[in-house]
Amino acid sequence: MNYYSTNGKAPIATLEKAVVKGLAEDKGLYMPENIKPLPQSFFDNIENLSFQEIAYTVADAFFGEDVDAESLKKIVYDTLAFDVPAVKVTDTIYSLELFHGPTLAFKDVGARFMARLLQYFLKKEGKGQVNVLVATSGDTGSAVANGFLGVDGIHVYVLYPKGKVSPIQECQFTTLGQNITAIEVEGVFDDCQALVKSAFMDADLNAHMKLTSANSINVARFLPQSFYYFYAYAQMKKIGKADQLVACVPSGNFGNICSALFGKKMGLPIKRFIAANNANDIFYKYLQTGEYNPKPSVQTIANAMDVGDPSNFARIYDLYKKDHKAICADISGATYSDAQIAETIKQVKAETGYVCDPHGACGYRALAEGLKAGETGFFLETAHPAKFKDTVDKILGEDIEIPAKLQAFMKGKKQSIPMSKDFADFKAFLLKE
Ligand SMILES: *Cc1c(COP(=O)(O)O)cnc(C)c1O
Repeated sequence: MNYYSTNGKAPIATLEKAVVKGLAEDKGLYMPENIKPLPQSFFDNIENLSFQEIAYTVADAFFGEDVDAESLKKIVYDTLAFDVPAVKVTDTIYSLELFHGPTLAFKDVGARFMARLLQYFLKKEGKGQVNVLVATSGDTGSAVANGFLGVDGIHVYVLYPKGKVSPIQECQFTTLGQNITAIEVEGVFDDCQALVKSAFMDADLNAHMKLTSANSINVARFLPQSFYYFYAYAQMKKIGKADQLVACVPSGNFGNICSALFGKKMGLPIKRFIAANNANDIFYKYLQTGEYNPKPSVQTIANAMDVGDPSNFARIYDLYKKDHKAICADISGATYSDAQIAETIKQVKAETGYVCDPHGACGYRALAEGLKAGETGFFLETAHPAKFKDTVDKILGEDIEIPAKLQAFMKGKKQSIPMSKDFADFKAFLLKE
């Protein structure tokens, strides 16, 4: 299948090019030329299939023309070696726990899938090493580093702001070694991002080494997230609650919810979607007014959603042919302040015993306020609450447990390379690699 750019000014690309390059030449995002509907028989029987079987069917529709069946199956099965259970919180609200992967964040699936697909193409080409540069304010770095750990032919450089990521997050990408290099930048997140962007545009560096990015602009990172929604539907169908299903997605760059909308186009019978935002309400405002006005992000306690210009908005806009009415027919919005997020975490715990992380709390609240009679909702619990332990402990007045998987990272030895925020230093470092 071929991919076109949302800006419409770049040549059509193969899947391989879209994955290896990430962003199109005109800075647009790649979109598949068609979205294949899945047969009714698949949905009729979906509750009897495993997560991996469901995901393979979906992956085949997107990637089956470009990746041989055996390799694709292996990529899917290796990626999804963990479960995402839908856990009952109230009679009408379920939590889809996306935090059972290696770094306890939903980005694990996209990162692992992308690493394996990139490796598949590199082997086929017989080409040398590819270098993934990723700037992180915490969560993306850990998912990408762990997703690519030990993958032959790919080296990952994680750039993070010194002293600005939580100790738990930091140890998830600084203790790995092997093909993962952590770079501790004397600056803030924006400085890290600027270094990465400058590197992509630098002619000397691009002549010296092959560079790519691994954030949700990459089709191989965002599309596999659609697997979650098909599996959630299967679980809800199994318990007889799938008839009027509402999916609520805590959203930042809108990669996750965008993949769900692709699912809907393939026939997934989810009635409607809610995009839950923190105080960064650009998409919410778009739904209300029809005008998209990006602005600088504000810092919140749900920091993985602190995005002022969501990159995947371009994909949603394209998917709905720029039709505001059609977008509003499928998606509604919600926006919550830090005080409201904290209040929700407290209230859900007191009333149900369930502990939400700050991102999931936005999702829960949007359902609690927005579900209509007869509807059942699930929200995506996008990270384990222990990843935001300081915040959650303070809100609940408790000392929540850190899962063994996270503790294991904390035992490792921190290794990182100190770097100034001056591009000349970063360039000199990469030229010696
Ligand atoms: C990345 C992230 C989000 C936002 O997902 P998008 O695809 O960027 O909308 C929400 N919650 C957590 C914990 C995340 O890491």
